[in-house]
Amino acid sequence: MNWKRETEVALAAVTKAAALCSDVQSTLVSSDSIEKNDRSPVTIADLGSQALICAILKGAFPEDPIVGEEDTDQLRANDALRAKVSALVSKHEPAMDEPAMMRAVEAGGGSAKRDGRFWTLDPIDGTKGFLRGDQYAIALALIENGEVVVGVLGCPNLAAQTNGAAVPLGALFDAARGEGTRVRPIGAGDARVVAVDSDEDIRKARFCESVESAHAAHGKHAAISKILGIEAEPFRIDSQCKYASVSRGDAAIYLRLPSRKGYQEKIWDHAAGVIVVEEAGGRVSDVNGKPLDFRAGETLANNTGVIVTNGLFHDRVLEAVREVGAAPDA
Ligand code: AMP
Ligand code: MG
Repeated sequence: MNWKRETEVALAAVTKAAALCSDVQSTLVSSDSIEKNDRSPVTIADLGSQALICAILKGAFPEDPIVGEEDTDQLRANDALRAKVSALVSKHEPAMDEPAMMRAVEAGGGSAKRDGRFWTLDPIDGTKGFLRGDQYAIALALIENGEVVVGVLGCPNLAAQTNGAAVPLGALFDAARGEGTRVRPIGAGDARVVAVDSDEDIRKARFCESVESAHAAHGKHAAISKILGIEAEPFRIDSQCKYASVSRGDAAIYLRLPSRKGYQEKIWDHAAGVIVVEEAGGRVSDVNGKPLDFRAGETLANNTGVIVTNGLFHDRVLEAVREVGAAPDA
């Protein structure tokens, strides 16, 4: 396997960050003392997750740039926040003091490159879901010469198995180019290979979309679903858990038509998900059928929207997208 060490390091890093995020979600988010609109738990967990992951990546691959979603601006400006993040990180990594935490978050400030390799990280994808006590993901991917070659998705609130007996929450997906996609319970347990849904009857298919209507055009998705004859209601779920769901056949389609003009998708919101789905046998493109272009910097500036399928339905979905028109209303 070409990416064995990278995959192992990424799995270890995401596992550690998932423990931190679960810790924060189960204490701070559910606590009554937190106001409904208080985003501080997610800010703390976001920064803590980035610190743990970047420290592990930099230890193993010091030369690799990391393009993380977070930076140290808030930490520098806010002493109380810095102390909270430092306390949280040292609970999960006792050897990491405050300066080391700051260096680790800072290490996520690397630049995307057209050639060569770099990592991209969303330390908590689906912050709205996280704050609702719902689904979110920790997403880490390695990109080389514009191609995603390794992806790890930690989904702490997703069941590790869908068809088996009751299992603890927490599913960890990993994929490497040419090596397939696996899932295992986070923290322990054996990995099993996953594959996309192979039912050829599109009417029986399920499609997923964002919970947040500001992030994707729900109305257009409904029109596309109608054209395709899909009978089930949309499966709304936050974060790259949507890619994870398509990879193991919980859904056959993920639609992300732009909800507003000019929005450019971020690479860390898609890179890990793309390889997890592709290696499970699925297909990913933009609304025009173009592959996602990871050579355009931090955003998918050369793409519009995202369409993910089990492969079987891809061309039919693209045709329905054309019929409905992908241009946003607003
Ligand atoms: P989801 O959980 O699928 O709704 O996606 C969450 C991600 O949506 C966040 O990580 C944001 O980066 C991204 N996002 C924010 N605003 C928009 C927008 N207008 N359109 C698409 N994605 C967005
Ligand atoms: Mg995100």
